[in-house]
Amino acid sequence: MHAETLLRIDRDHLIHPVSAWRDHEEAGARILRSGKGAWLTDIHGKELLDGFSGLWCVNAGYGCQSVVEAATEQMARLPYATGYFGYASEAAIELAGRLAAKAPGNLNRIFFCQGGSDAVDSVLRFIRFFQHARGTPQKRHVIGLAKGYHGSTYAGSGLTALAAFHRDADVPLSWQHHIPSPYPYRHEGDGQDSTIIADSVAALQQKVAEVGAANVAAFFCEPVQGSGGVIVPPRGWLAAMRRACTELGILFVADEVITGFGRTGPLFACETEQVVPDMMTVAKGLTSGYAPMGAVFMSDEVYETVRDNTPPGVPIGHGMTYSAHPVSAAIGLAVLDLYEGGLLANGVAAGRHLASRLTTLSEHPFVGDVRISGMLAGIELVTDKTSRRKPDPSLGLSKKLAALGYRDGLLFRAFADDVIGLAPPLCCSIEEIDLMCDRLTRIIHEIANLRDVSSRR
Ligand code: PMP
Repeated sequence: MHAETLLRIDRDHLIHPVSAWRDHEEAGARILRSGKGAWLTDIHGKELLDGFSGLWCVNAGYGCQSVVEAATEQMARLPYATGYFGYASEAAIELAGRLAAKAPGNLNRIFFCQGGSDAVDSVLRFIRFFQHARGTPQKRHVIGLAKGYHGSTYAGSGLTALAAFHRDADVPLSWQHHIPSPYPYRHEGDGQDSTIIADSVAALQQKVAEVGAANVAAFFCEPVQGSGGVIVPPRGWLAAMRRACTELGILFVADEVITGFGRTGPLFACETEQVVPDMMTVAKGLTSGYAPMGAVFMSDEVYETVRDNTPPGVPIGHGMTYSAHPVSAAIGLAVLDLYEGGLLANGVAAGRHLASRLTTLSEHPFVGDVRISGMLAGIELVTDKTSRRKPDPSLGLSKKLAALGYRDGLLFRAFADDVIGLAPPLCCSIEEIDLMCDRLTRIIHEIANLRDVSSRR
């Protein structure tokens, strides 16, 4: 179809996720046609280096033939199998087994769904089943972080703490609470790692005391807060929060939808601090974005408590038509082969190079903070380095940055006008990381020198 026709149909009919509808109608879509490795081509033939792995998901890069073949083979042989009524596909069983073998600690039970949002929502339901099963149904409150993101279902959007997801949506729900995020660059105390960690533990203890220990079921967090602005907590934070949850008698849920599958280096970010959550959510890198799939990892203890306290013949009423979809599962297996066959290792090497390149950016007068965890990076822009003043929202930096990125053939994420997010595919070569960093540096120089921006610094 001709580009103009596609643009018109898009404007008239396609509602884009998390978009400003009016702005989108004015700006029109950027329509992508193909991809190979870390590169995308749009309908005009323009080449873009994808510094964001689509939406932090295409970890293996585009056009992986082994993944395409696995999907094609499964689709031709058995495109669908329900998991209801005791049925299953070979691919789903095999994937569950391989994931359980790789999972931290005793996270041996796996529930497949379609993506990250319904993985989080499933956990929220599993928490209810668990608390009822153990005879503590009043434990219904959950606590998240003030910059946390946990998806876009009704309940998940309330656990998410970003304003755009709460606006006009009547969330958070009465049982959802938030404590301040561990945010080293904007910590209000001395900014020392130990203080940041102690403050988070104290905030959790205080919130649990406020709501009543007998009423709190769980604490949710991302090991690195992604959509909140790529905020990397100090080393030791995750383990300290895990310990605090155990002491407080509440479940610890790690949302590894972004951090899972090598994004921060290891297969799961929890491994870095030998943390074993009670439940863990994944999606994105699980299939590298080649098909929708998410999963909940559940500890033996949570699983057995629900199993052993449910009468025989009574089903646990949670599931979807596409739970454990065989094509997604076959893709998951092929992608797991890639991680094990060198993709994780390549991501670690590329991530080291990314860190060495990006840290030099922190000298720029417009760059307040550079934070990196593997192939995940956040660059926080400030108009004054001493006071750490954020850019004035009226400058509309997100839009300007995105426009310059497109012009220069670089995809990244511009969050809330002051943070640039990078999450390159793990398959990137050193040369591609260099090119990404060169392009980004040029864009930051250019934006800092725009007349309306520089006059307000
Ligand atoms: N949790 C986290 C940490 C996420 O980053 C996301 C998506 N960005 C989700 C949940 C929701 O996942 P999905 O968009 O696949 O529904």
